[in-house]
Amino acid sequence: IGCGRASFSSSNPKICVVGSGPAGFYTAQHLLKARQDVEVDIYERLPVPFGLVRFGVAPDHPEVKNVINTFTQTASHARCNFYGNVNVGKDVSIDELRRAYHAIVLSYGAEGNRSMGVPGENLPGVYSAKDFVGWYNGLPSCRELTPDLSCDTAVILGQGNVALDVARILLAPTKMLKSTDITQPALDALAQSRVRRVLIVGRRGPLQIACTIKELREMVNLPDCRPEMVAADFEGVSEALKDVPRPRKRLTELMLKTALETPGEKEQERRSKASRSWGFRFFRSPVEVLASGGRAAGIRLAVNRLEGSGDGAQAVLTGEVEDVPCGLVISSIGYRSLPIDESVPFDSRRAVIPNSMGRVQQAAGLYCSGWVKTGPTGVIATTMNNSFDTARSLLEDMDSGALDVSSTRPGSQSISALLAERGVKAVTFSGWEKIDDVETRRGEVSGKPREKLLTVQEMLQVARS
Ligand code: FAD
Ligand code: NAP
Repeated sequence: IGCGRASFSSSNPKICVVGSGPAGFYTAQHLLKARQDVEVDIYERLPVPFGLVRFGVAPDHPEVKNVINTFTQTASHARCNFYGNVNVGKDVSIDELRRAYHAIVLSYGAEGNRSMGVPGENLPGVYSAKDFVGWYNGLPSCRELTPDLSCDTAVILGQGNVALDVARILLAPTKMLKSTDITQPALDALAQSRVRRVLIVGRRGPLQIACTIKELREMVNLPDCRPEMVAADFEGVSEALKDVPRPRKRLTELMLKTALETPGEKEQERRSKASRSWGFRFFRSPVEVLASGGRAAGIRLAVNRLEGSGDGAQAVLTGEVEDVPCGLVISSIGYRSLPIDESVPFDSRRAVIPNSMGRVQQAAGLYCSGWVKTGPTGVIATTMNNSFDTARSLLEDMDSGALDVSSTRPGSQSISALLAERGVKAVTFSGWEKIDDVETRRGEVSGKPREKLLTVQEMLQVARS
């Protein structure tokens, strides 16, 4: 591996972090800052760091990616090392890591997705938002998705911020995207796209929508695009607003304004000229993806009514159904964490590692942070806070002696030897910096912040050059 630093002391507490998304980096940052002796090694499955900051966050939200600067500082810390291209659970087991380190923090995120569980879900023309997002953001495993964008109408299931990201990318004028870090193949495909109408479907009502106001406002203001709502969906909503917390109140007011108010002249003109449209559909759950000629041609939705009110309201089937013709179905009902090693407890119902305050239950020396700890919700700031909490638990355990750090552990030395035996070549942070450099230079040519390398093989080649 060859990035160990001479200043390391063999008797220092050695901690290993699995995953280099926000959770991994924020946990490492807190540990390194709180103690002058701990050494932190971050193992990452891909040759490149930063998880969903690179492969999730929308290309037209570059400001969100500024956290990368903080993560880079952490990675450059004298007591921190990054080992990319190491798939924990496959290339090295948790038991092996446990023997090499005093503690392990699992922060490997949520690499799977919830499935709708309806017939037709696997038809061509049906994608998970996770794969669709991975495709336009250059996730190597999604490179070959090449979604078919030759239809007029797309239906997105789920109304969270990921659903709005996907809707915006599908409808945004190409000129809005061409100066972002979206991959060139995705940009080319979107430029040829025939999708003109996107429906964003939720099983509950406007007062339960999961997106936030900034993302809604971006839809409302999207150039060349008009809203297409169903007024009846908003019955009784303004009356219910008085009991609603302020952020949701403002979000709902913007929805009501967009759906129900007659706009001013200028906006009317803008809307009438728009060549594309988007709209929310509420109180609808997917029942079946309808096929024609072996591919998706529509979706059958069950009509729901709500039982209860507020955030806890439940969607209950009315027995009615409705068919919506569409050639593209994107399921955006949430990501899902997966178990990576059978020696780690995993709650498969909730799809999280069972823990209290980040301490993995019944597994001394194991901790978890980020989405694998909490489930797949929360913005980067939320992930940061829950990662700091986990780091605090670990530090407390070190101080109290619950975590024994008195014996010497070999850390990366022994893991590097194991990886070498197995022919796994880790990518160091300076390897990533070479990739970063090549990507940035490729981007300059076309006025983009970067042009991402799209295959693991290419990444490895550059990292080792
Ligand atoms: P991740 O970011 O997923 O990081 C997990 C890391 O672990 C990955 O690098 C992965 O490759 C690695 N890994 C997985 N398995 C292994 C293994 N076996 N061995 C080694 N490494 C492994 N938040 C915002 O604040 N603003 C936004 O604009 C925003 N946009 C988003 C857009 C999308 C599409 C999504 C899904 C989320 C978005 N979020 C946004 C939320 C934010 O991305 C998450 O809060 C955050 O990334 C969760 O961090 P994490 O470290 O738990 O997981
Ligand atoms: P999310 O916010 O939890 O939204 C999931 C959506 O799927 C909800 O509308 C939910 O409806 C619906 N859903 C879940 N299970 C369903 C089912 N079985 N059938 C039908 N609908 C179902 O998740 P997300 O959109 O994947 O986002 C994940 C996190 O990343 C969120 O915290 C989000 O804010 C964050 N993020 C932030 C940004 C940003 O800041 N710009 C961008 C992207 C993502 P119910 O409410 O009825 O369950």
